[in-house]
Amino acid sequence: MESLVSAWIDGRLIGLSRWYTEYHVRTCPQCTASLPFLFLLKARLAALPGDTTPDIAPTLPARRWTAVAAEWERLDREATGP
Ligand SMILES: [Zn+2]
Repeated sequence: MESLVSAWIDGRLIGLSRWYTEYHVRTCPQCTASLPFLFLLKARLAALPGDTTPDIAPTLPARRWTAVAAEWERLDREATGP
């Protein structure tokens, strides 16, 4: 569900996908609000030894996670079409 935004943060998006994701994140209050947490997540993952998954979920209220997940799912649908 987070594939596009996650790939964008990783710098793996090119062309239209990159433009679309950047545009959406900049104009979407929910995605903008979630960005600091996404970058923090990426930084934590990169800093960890091995492949341990950090327990970052409790740092965000459940309602915020639900909103972020819903936004990502909508973004993926809009980007890939029906
Ligand atoms: Zn959004």
